[in-house]
Amino acid sequence: MKKHNFSAGPCILPQEVLKKASQAVLNFNNDNLSILEISHRSKAFVDVMENARALALELLGLEGKGYKALFLHGGASTQFLMVALNLLEKRAGYLNTGTWSDKAIKEAKIYDDVYEVASSKNANYNYIPKGYDIPSDYDYFHCTSNNTIFGTQMKKYPKSPVPMVCDMSSDIFSRTIDYSQFDLIYAGAQKNMGPAGTCLVVVKEDILGKVSRKIPSMMDYKVHISKGSMFNTPPVFPVYVSMLNLQWLKNLGGISEIEKENEKKARLIYSEIDLNPLFKGYASKEDRSMMNATFNMTNDNLKETFDTMLEEAGINGLNGHRSVGGYRASMYNALPLESVGILVDVMSELERKA
Ligand SMILES: *Cc1c(COP(=O)(O)O)cnc(C)c1O
Repeated sequence: MKKHNFSAGPCILPQEVLKKASQAVLNFNNDNLSILEISHRSKAFVDVMENARALALELLGLEGKGYKALFLHGGASTQFLMVALNLLEKRAGYLNTGTWSDKAIKEAKIYDDVYEVASSKNANYNYIPKGYDIPSDYDYFHCTSNNTIFGTQMKKYPKSPVPMVCDMSSDIFSRTIDYSQFDLIYAGAQKNMGPAGTCLVVVKEDILGKVSRKIPSMMDYKVHISKGSMFNTPPVFPVYVSMLNLQWLKNLGGISEIEKENEKKARLIYSEIDLNPLFKGYASKEDRSMMNATFNMTNDNLKETFDTMLEEAGINGLNGHRSVGGYRASMYNALPLESVGILVDVMSELERKA
């Protein structure tokens, strides 16, 4: 039996997607070749790339609004510097809500002035700062929608007077927000979109081409746009699996349908965390993430028992990140509600036993 996979990333994918992907490794499109051994310039793969790019824009509601979707190499971490190289002329503002924002700030600082408009670092990032200002002379404002490690999520976005850039690696395609409030969105595939190896970038074309520096070709969004996201050999297989997953999501009814499931999962786990005296949530309640629920045990002596029970129930990937400790239940789109039910049963069983 398949395990209940709460892994934070690389993460769970729908079984149906895994089946189609494995079939394509052996025989893609009934053409008696593997997807791994055909040219990325073949019509079969160009169709995959075009379909994946179109699906991303369609699901986000950004078709025909001046955006381009790209599937790039190098993960979200490469976007930390690519954003700065392409958009940072003088100064930019960053909201520091966790390890990933912190890393984005560090990379951007290599190129120019970067200011933290607000930070929750002093509270080990257990909340999202609010009520800060974004000066109108900044080149852009950068935020992280969901803090995978700490389990906080932005529920509201500021009205930014400058282009807004968002790292959505761990909650893209999970909830209905107005995606057109952002000028650039990026997301490493391996949290909520596909396997590791590609990063989705959705960028509004009119914010590009405004910096004076020379940008190396591989780092230049305009180069990738002009080549249809095929400037060099793209990450063929991760793009294909991402396409299958976006197709799966579309067939389910899109983001608004999966959001209902995600809300049910989140309600279930957080109500157990709040009612069960053996557990305590990490993130402040109003900022709790619908994707990653972080919690600690109130009695560490029960840890071994709990861990054994988790294993017996076939639960995988529940350990918290080392900077928070405790546990983290990552509940990405493909995780069934039933898996959260099993986890909650184990938690209440522990309470009965203790
Ligand atoms: C995992 C993660 C990253 C890093 O992604 P890579 O693809 O490993 O570079 C960046 N931002 C967030 C919010 C993440 O969860």
